[in-house]
Amino acid sequence: MIILIQPDISPDARSFLSSCICAMTHTPIRPWTETDITVKSDKVGIYGLLDKYDALSGEYTLTRCTTAPKNGCWPDDAIRTAALLICIEETSAKRLKGMYIEYIPSGIIRYYEPTPKDRRRLIQIIRQIQDVNRGLFPSKPLHPPCDSCKYYEKCEKNKPKTLSFLFKK
Ligand code: SF4
Repeated sequence: MIILIQPDISPDARSFLSSCICAMTHTPIRPWTETDITVKSDKVGIYGLLDKYDALSGEYTLTRCTTAPKNGCWPDDAIRTAALLICIEETSAKRLKGMYIEYIPSGIIRYYEPTPKDRRRLIQIIRQIQDVNRGLFPSKPLHPPCDSCKYYEKCEKNKPKTLSFLFKK
């Protein structure tokens, strides 16, 4: 919640924060008893920071400084929510179906329950990161944006392969 804008802040930041205050004027504020809670999962090797936790209801809230989509949440927030719920389950042994997402610049709060597709995408991303950390090049997705990729020239995936690649020796 923004309650005070520092007087010497840049004009751009002041204008953004003022519009956020305006947008949130009539939005019921999500309750909280703790803020900035670190949660992690050793099983999948991820961690994250949650903005609010309310001990009375046991609910978590993710605060975003982006505008809200027309419905639901942005794809990145769906993955983020799925990841945070895995971390919450391991950190606090609580199995929650979803969490609230506050889109501050829009003054909109939505409850989101990650779908099985979100969880599959999350696992896929974690595997890709683990591959990169092990020095491997992640596998090429079905429709990669190669035409606009700045790594096109260097990309191993687009180098011509000899026919022997297709046959076992
Ligand atoms: S050129 Fe390589 S790195 Fe770039 S989008 Fe295509 S597959 Fe991915």
